[in-house]
Amino acid sequence: MDREDRGGRFGQDREMHKATCSDCGNETEVPFKPIEGRPVYCRDCYRKHKPKTFGGGRGGRDRDSY
Ligand SMILES: [Zn+2]
Repeated sequence: MDREDRGGRFGQDREMHKATCSDCGNETEVPFKPIEGRPVYCRDCYRKHKPKTFGGGRGGRDRDSY
């Protein structure tokens, strides 16, 4: 008998954490807590660094060691 509103925590605001972009060095905010030792990117750089493994297959990646 839990008739309480289940949306209690749902509409919680997203906490933004300030971080410094590991690429361009700009200050940015991320919706997650930056993990130490892990690079954080601003939106722009995030796009750049996002791996293109989305059904594309060949994304013009340089072959490093083949
Ligand atoms: Zn950046």
